[in-house]
Amino acid sequence: MKLKLCTLASSSSGNCTYINFEDTHILVDIGISKKRTIEALNQIDVKPESIQAIFVTHEHCDHVKGIGVFNRKYNTPIYATKKTWEVIDKNNLIGKVSNKRILQQTTKIKNLTIQSYKVSHDAVDPVGYIFEAEKKRIALFTDIGIIDTNILTAVKNCNGIMLEFNHDPNMVEVGNYPYYLKRRILGEKGHLSNDTAAKILADIYHQDLKWAMLAHLSGENNLPDLAYITTKNALEEKGLTIGKHIQIYVAEKYINSPLLSV
Ligand SMILES: [Zn+2]
Ligand SMILES: [Zn+2]
Repeated sequence: MKLKLCTLASSSSGNCTYINFEDTHILVDIGISKKRTIEALNQIDVKPESIQAIFVTHEHCDHVKGIGVFNRKYNTPIYATKKTWEVIDKNNLIGKVSNKRILQQTTKIKNLTIQSYKVSHDAVDPVGYIFEAEKKRIALFTDIGIIDTNILTAVKNCNGIMLEFNHDPNMVEVGNYPYYLKRRILGEKGHLSNDTAAKILADIYHQDLKWAMLAHLSGENNLPDLAYITTKNALEEKGLTIGKHIQIYVAEKYINSPLLSV
């Protein structure tokens, strides 16, 4: 059986990713409306009531704003770390929800194993995930200022990776954002740039890495073509050709990606 991923929404204005293995269906974050989530799931023939869990990466609204409404309709279990729940509850970010679960480092849902990894980002306890089933692995890391050796080791033997390509540093510098926001984006607890992410991708490449999804592009400070070209150049420097050695996809803001599998 195949382990699958589909991004339903991906950008600084809303994120939601679907993961599937056999009859296990889960979502990572719902930072878009319930209506849009249901429409996106419909397009890949997934019934919203069949989603067995929602895994939260962190409390920023582009990741959680649709979770409460979805949970109140379908009663879907929500996994977040203890500290993330505390900040969600304290600030009433998603309203009253049922089926709250404390995220552990390893969670099993049927034959799918979900491992969480602490990441560097300006949230209370942000995480990235690795999904594993029948020795196939998909990594999901967005909203991350720097990649440490721990994460690098974890993503090294994945078969598919969804990685943040947030911004082009030059676009941030010359853009309209206030100074503090520019420093935040470019800082160690901010977001990964095209250049850094492309370099990581080229560094971790191995022949069983089938595809990479360039994700969480900033609407203000990035362009899909720029993320793609930066990746292409970094791969070519290592003698790697897109289409031959690896497939590269750029996640769209509000359009489903292809349903990718490993
Ligand atoms: Zn985000
Ligand atoms: Zn964030």
